[in-house]
Amino acid sequence: MARYTESVCKICRREGMKLFFKAERCYTDKCAFDRRSYAPGQHGQARGKVSEYALQLREKQKVKRTYGLMEGQFRNTFADADRARGITGENLISMLERRLDNVVYRLGFAGSRSEARMMVTHGYYRVNGRKVDIPSFRVKQNDIIEVAEKRKKEARLADNIKSAESRHGIPEWLSLDKDNFKATVARLPRRDDTTLPMHEQLIVELYSK
Ligand code: SF4
Repeated sequence: MARYTESVCKICRREGMKLFFKAERCYTDKCAFDRRSYAPGQHGQARGKVSEYALQLREKQKVKRTYGLMEGQFRNTFADADRARGITGENLISMLERRLDNVVYRLGFAGSRSEARMMVTHGYYRVNGRKVDIPSFRVKQNDIIEVAEKRKKEARLADNIKSAESRHGIPEWLSLDKDNFKATVARLPRRDDTTLPMHEQLIVELYSK
């Protein structure tokens, strides 16, 4: 499977914001973006005129990388969002939020989205009592997400939940039972449930060309 091979901190610097790929480190003074909040490379500090296309492209890259998707996966999600009823951009964000790897990250069952993806593929989670090891699995309303019984004793899980509560909070659309490492999808996520600044309309414009 294709994957990013460059330093993930360079991605934050390129996109001009912290994207929190590294769990703990992102919240310390070792964060590369906090130290050098300009784009990497020789011309990283140069400011040029930015075209409309460049703005749209950067926005798409930012959102795609935030959720850790490759281009094909992102395009497929966009196509689903476009086919669904409602506003395409809002559908897109909602569908990205509903990915199982994002959900377990939001719940604090993993320290970052990349760790969540790895833990999903290693069979850490159950959805409605059944093992699901596909990071792109899209949760639905009333689904119950739970850490596998044999994994519940791992100390990092409780620590991760505590950190998630203090750092990004547990979203309102997920109802967490932290004592049992279990959560229910209380409702589908809405656009305003997303904490990261995103301009999804730019992505719609880019893909509509
Ligand atoms: Fe981004 Fe985290 Fe690296 Fe900071 S430490 S640049 S937030 S991945």
